[in-house]
Amino acid sequence: MPSDIEIAQESDIKPISDVAAELGLLPEEIEFFGPYKAKVKLEVLNRLADVPDGKYIDVTAITPTPLGEGKTTTTVGLSQALGAHLGYKVITAIRQPSQGPTFGIKGGAAGGGYSQVIPMEDFNLHLTGDIHAITAAHNLVAAAIDVRMLHESQATDEQMFERLMPKNKHGKRSFGRGLVGRLKRLGIDKTDPDDLTPEERRKLCRLDIDPATITWRRVLDTSDRFLRGVTVGRGPNETGHERETGFDITVASEIMAVLALTTGLADMRERFGKIVIGLDKAGNAVSCDDLGVAGAMTVLMRDAIKPNLMQTLEGTPVFVHAGPFANIAHGNSSILADKIGLKLADFVVTESGFGADMGMEKFFDIKCRYSGLVPNVVVLVATVRALKMHGGGPKVVAGKPLDTAYIQENLELLRAGMPNLLHHIQSARKFGIPVVVAVNSFATDTEAELELIRKMSIEEGGAVDAVVSRHWEFGGQGAVDLAKAVVKASELPSQFQFLYPLEWPIKQKIETIAREIYGADGVDYSELAEQRIEEYTRLGFDKLPMCMAKTHLSLSHDATLKGVPKGFRIPIRDVRASVGAGFIYPLLGEMSTMPGLPTRPAFYDVDLDLETGRVTGLF
Ligand code: ADP
Ligand code: MG
Repeated sequence: MPSDIEIAQESDIKPISDVAAELGLLPEEIEFFGPYKAKVKLEVLNRLADVPDGKYIDVTAITPTPLGEGKTTTTVGLSQALGAHLGYKVITAIRQPSQGPTFGIKGGAAGGGYSQVIPMEDFNLHLTGDIHAITAAHNLVAAAIDVRMLHESQATDEQMFERLMPKNKHGKRSFGRGLVGRLKRLGIDKTDPDDLTPEERRKLCRLDIDPATITWRRVLDTSDRFLRGVTVGRGPNETGHERETGFDITVASEIMAVLALTTGLADMRERFGKIVIGLDKAGNAVSCDDLGVAGAMTVLMRDAIKPNLMQTLEGTPVFVHAGPFANIAHGNSSILADKIGLKLADFVVTESGFGADMGMEKFFDIKCRYSGLVPNVVVLVATVRALKMHGGGPKVVAGKPLDTAYIQENLELLRAGMPNLLHHIQSARKFGIPVVVAVNSFATDTEAELELIRKMSIEEGGAVDAVVSRHWEFGGQGAVDLAKAVVKASELPSQFQFLYPLEWPIKQKIETIAREIYGADGVDYSELAEQRIEEYTRLGFDKLPMCMAKTHLSLSHDATLKGVPKGFRIPIRDVRASVGAGFIYPLLGEMSTMPGLPTRPAFYDVDLDLETGRVTGLF
């Protein structure tokens, strides 16, 4: 097989205007970024408001090996089969990858083999600049926080008032857009700043941020571990205002989480305003609205909110939109792309990150809750190699050759690993959604192995079907059987239900996920976690859904426990809130939000062919 980039570069690619036209988009609904990429305007949702939604398919997986088991590849292959072989209108909806991993650990995010999104160089790099817009908006907030603390420390209440609400040339003062949010939060119903009482002036002008409580860091979309901890304020004019903080990778920004969960411009503006950056000295939440920055954030993000249109190797349309960092966020592509897709197509096939215990649970309980969309089918990707690993096979390490156990027939090892797959089927069924197992076939798998997975999935797991798929090797043609099974399953009535109601207390929600989805015996909270839960409950954030930050390499919190671990309790180390995005995220271990680079990073192989102008060595 040629490499992924060779396959991608040698394929026929259609002008994106053709892809848009085939989809039924009007010329005025698209904005071009060169010949092969476009953005889709949100106005299309108004035009198609009365069109019934297509079927909504979520592709998820068993607990993966570190190599990935082929969710993206299956998402793309299944779409190619539905669109290019069975004649349905289909849209693939996936995330945009971060540049950190693209240059770090080898492994593309655009699918693989003959099931890919193209142009894959664009997909894996800047695309249309959405991630850069997030970096800009995020760091504007960071700058606003530090400078506000500096200015408040140097000015009297009167001076702050004069500077924030200066008189215009007619001698009149006005609040300006930036102060509207804080006025509302403080419940001050006045239109003229000169009518404010001294107490109101003080409250309006002094945020009194407690530096020790600031949770807003800075971001960059590069895996630069030396920025994990930094001291800001080292310049001579900021003396006395040094502060320890750090950088996260841009995709870990709450702004990215907002982009993924927002339902429109007004909603995005509101969510930005609600983002909590820390507390004031009295213990009240300080938000982006208090800082007066939410309007500018919305301006910076006004293009990023439009989904990006690309295509598969077989010319079917793809929406690439948002890429929330799955470790601490929900790891699903955007609600807006899915909403538009469901109006335009018979099927939207979307991927949720990590295994079903992580991405799928959050897809249902967070994404579908905010979108109101009802999913029809879960496609659960399984591989022989990962199941053997769960059955007790040797450790799988990225970049190292696979142990012989994984490339020779071993039905016993495979059977021993099957409970992991059966567990995930059960989890999906708890949400009332029919499951089709997709056995992603690798060249070394044997017929007997593939058949064992198929049979047990249906007979013991209760999957409505289980199909071997060969889309990596044969493209859409290799996934036609899978596509037919998915079409059939999508005709079953959806009995979709959430796992928990939002009204439950934080702990009850966490414990339900831990017991029902992870198979834990219970949950233990650190002192810090207890404090935060109390604090968030006091601040009124307890009615949000839970977004568990857990390893994806085990059903438990311990990445070394394979298969279906039993007899364990989940430790909650810390609990944090993304109030703007709209979720609480309990941390089950140390979660790195800024990856590092390996000794031999993927960028070693990347170069530009100066004769053809082509990118080489990118996967
Ligand atoms: P996930 O989305 O679950 O992380 P991907 O679809 O990105 O997984 O696949 C992970 C890697 O495995 C990719 O490099 C992909 O090309 C490769 N891959 C996927 N399916 C197959 C297959 N059937 N045979 C060989 N390689 C595969
Ligand atoms: Mg993927």
